[in-house]
Amino acid sequence: MSAVDDLLAVQDEDTTADQIRHRLAHLPERATFEAALAERHSVDADREGVRLERLELDRRQKRAEADVEAVVTRMQELNRRLYDSGISSPREAREIQQEVDRLTPRQDDLEERVLEIMEEIDPVDARLRELDVLAEAGDAKIAEAQAVLAGTEEGLAEDLTSAGDRRRVAAAEVPADALDRYERLRGVFGASTVAGFDGSDCRVCPLSMPAVEVDRVKHLEVGTLTDCTECGRLVVR
Ligand SMILES: [Zn+2]
Repeated sequence: MSAVDDLLAVQDEDTTADQIRHRLAHLPERATFEAALAERHSVDADREGVRLERLELDRRQKRAEADVEAVVTRMQELNRRLYDSGISSPREAREIQQEVDRLTPRQDDLEERVLEIMEEIDPVDARLRELDVLAEAGDAKIAEAQAVLAGTEEGLAEDLTSAGDRRRVAAAEVPADALDRYERLRGVFGASTVAGFDGSDCRVCPLSMPAVEVDRVKHLEVGTLTDCTECGRLVVR
């Protein structure tokens, strides 16, 4: 291989490396992974909301049950006084009976309220179980997407290393000044920094070379590197 071929090889490897880096920066596998993470966070947010709702229902249930318990205790006490121990007067007995009569529907109401709260709890618990299943499926999806992403990244990183190795081998054969010119111009011209000469023009030139310039290049030895005065790229005779 001539030094010019080696320089073209350097350019090819730089182009390859740029393409790999571009792919790494725009991997659909990463978008899939990030979408799985976002989906999982949304399940967590939903779950937190439902969990708070469940806590509130739990609190209401306990309070209603405590109310029932207080009424039941009071009724037991009243009944004990009515039937077990001596009552001093018919008036006292009447008063106790009146309170029992008042408390009986109250106990029914409170027990009814406990049942209503428990009915409210059922669908909330079902929703929590549903969200648990979604969270588990989400975790599996994240793990899978992460593995796929890591596999792709690993493969591309290896490709990048290989391109770098091949570039180093080729660059070692290119004269330092030519490599230096190439590296300075590459920031401007990228993958077409070094262009071929098709016998009448610089191959990638947007404009035609002037006749006198064509003539100059034509008379160079094949394999010589020169500047295209039209576009500023490096041209290989
Ligand atoms: Zn040109």
